[in-house]
Amino acid sequence: MSWFLPTFQLIRKAVEEAYEGVRCGDGGPFGAVVVKDDQIIVRCHNMVLKNMDPTAHAEVTAVREACKKLERYDLSDCEIYASCEPCPMCFGAIHLSKMKCLNDFLHRDWYMEHKQRQH
Ligand SMILES: [Zn+2]
Repeated sequence: MSWFLPTFQLIRKAVEEAYEGVRCGDGGPFGAVVVKDDQIIVRCHNMVLKNMDPTAHAEVTAVREACKKLERYDLSDCEIYASCEPCPMCFGAIHLSKMKCLNDFLHRDWYMEHKQRQH
């Protein structure tokens, strides 16, 4: 599949960001990147500890930063890639921003592929 490698690389960037967040003590091991026109426009990690904000998950932080950067709240022309499947709060934030989240498709695809191999 043509989308697999770029998707994998983008999720890898999100994972690298998660490591960075832990290294500098900003928060838990979660990262996210926002992509527009095949370019990463925002890289974020969990900021709960640094900001003393329980809502500063990587994806929510990425939504906020992308909105600030593009100076709008509709991110329907963007995609978000996260280091793991978003929690309900982040899922809500991503949904409200109208971004596409390809993690879910990837997980489902891997699951189906793995499942088919078992049978
Ligand atoms: Zn979350």
